[in-house]
Amino acid sequence: MTIEEAENGRDDMLIDGPDRANSIPDGFNANYLKVYYGRLFPHVDIFKWMCYGNDGKHPACDKSYFGRREFSFTLDNDIYLRFQSFNSASELESSIREKCPFKIDIGPVYSVDPAKRHAYAQGGDNVFAPVERELVFDIDITDYDDVRYCCSGADVCLECWPLMTVAIKVIDTALRESAVVREIVNLISEFIDNGGLLDDFGFNHILWVYSGRRGVHCWVCDGKARRLTNEQRGAIADYFRVYKGNENSNKKVSLMGPLHPFLGRSYNEVLRAFFEGNLLSSQNILSTEERYEKILSMIPDESVTSELRGKWQGRSSNSKEDINVHRWGQLKHMLQSGKHKVQGLHRCVEEIVFTFTYPRLDMEVSKHMNHLLKAPFCVHPKTGRVCIPIDPENCEEFDPTTVPTLSELLQELNTGGIGADADDDDIHFSCNIDTNAMLLIAEWDKTSLGKSVRFFRSSFLQPLLKSCKEEMETSYNAKLQQTKNNLSW
Ligand SMILES: [Zn+2]
Repeated sequence: MTIEEAENGRDDMLIDGPDRANSIPDGFNANYLKVYYGRLFPHVDIFKWMCYGNDGKHPACDKSYFGRREFSFTLDNDIYLRFQSFNSASELESSIREKCPFKIDIGPVYSVDPAKRHAYAQGGDNVFAPVERELVFDIDITDYDDVRYCCSGADVCLECWPLMTVAIKVIDTALRESAVVREIVNLISEFIDNGGLLDDFGFNHILWVYSGRRGVHCWVCDGKARRLTNEQRGAIADYFRVYKGNENSNKKVSLMGPLHPFLGRSYNEVLRAFFEGNLLSSQNILSTEERYEKILSMIPDESVTSELRGKWQGRSSNSKEDINVHRWGQLKHMLQSGKHKVQGLHRCVEEIVFTFTYPRLDMEVSKHMNHLLKAPFCVHPKTGRVCIPIDPENCEEFDPTTVPTLSELLQELNTGGIGADADDDDIHFSCNIDTNAMLLIAEWDKTSLGKSVRFFRSSFLQPLLKSCKEEMETSYNAKLQQTKNNLSW
């Protein structure tokens, strides 16, 4: 923002709110949340997404589909309401508005309506079990505490957030690549029949969401991803895992044999450049004895480590070059030069880079269909920030410290919204979703949440629903053809 813009902003505020009584104090509470759910939360978008085209008029639509999805609400005072289910967008919306959950989680689609699971259990015929679920990934910056020095625990700043950016880049690229999916298929079919669920194409419908505080969530929504079994999910999670170390070992990564093609690409295209060009200096990875000792402990050769220690001990670099970059250069030279080109040592450089930068996934979340995951557009109670989607193509630009907060949004509603005509074209984007609720001028459009809802629709929801429709049409026609063939016998 330029100074001029900043001043204009201030002028506008003075005009709009002659007394600052309209100003909304920072915070998170049930009253704010009521306004948020009543006026801003995109209920219909969530409904449309969770229907996957089954709310249409096509004869192949499964009308029971949305009603078999589990929603879970966490109310004030940590009261959990599991197995909530709804039959329409308006049922979902009125329940959210009435119960005002501090957190909304989304679970799987079950074989039967989860709210009526007990009744079904007595009937004996229907087994209550999850049958579909997005393939999900959860990455939390607290899992990087041993490799970040700026913050710890739930804290996050612009120095360590790029670790999340790198995780998005690596995982997103992999999921969209047909080569990776082919590798996963091979891996799966080694010990599990992949059941034809995974073809040779990469995934297309991937949603990244800021978790509101310290991490990111990923939802893979392609049909073939939603129908993966727990075993297949486990195989995929294992495919992405490189950590074989344990809590007590500094060396978290052991790279044996030739670098796996996906890991090789991640290293060459993302991780090395990020480690050397960003993390090394921003986290001061080699600046103090305590820190460089940690790196030296990952090198299994006494002569190399003592030589490096000799160069670094009690010395600050004279050169203008960043001390971390300088020392990293020395370490690389020693490990990769002819003198020390011992088997296994060459890999050490890569292992250090992987230890510091490779995405650390919460495996349990990905492995089980019935794991709950927080819905997008929830508000994090501790930060007040909205869990907005992140554009993986421009994930470097995502700044967690500028994500709209609940109180900022309410303030914007109070003052008639942000510069509504600033990006007029975006606001009048063409939307194929012809639901009445959407034809009303949405209030979120007048706030800084608008950008995120528009992005959710244009980059994720619309392409997803288009391909759901095509998939439905194809399978319906195939069935018709089969019936015809059967009849002609
Ligand atoms: Zn930090």
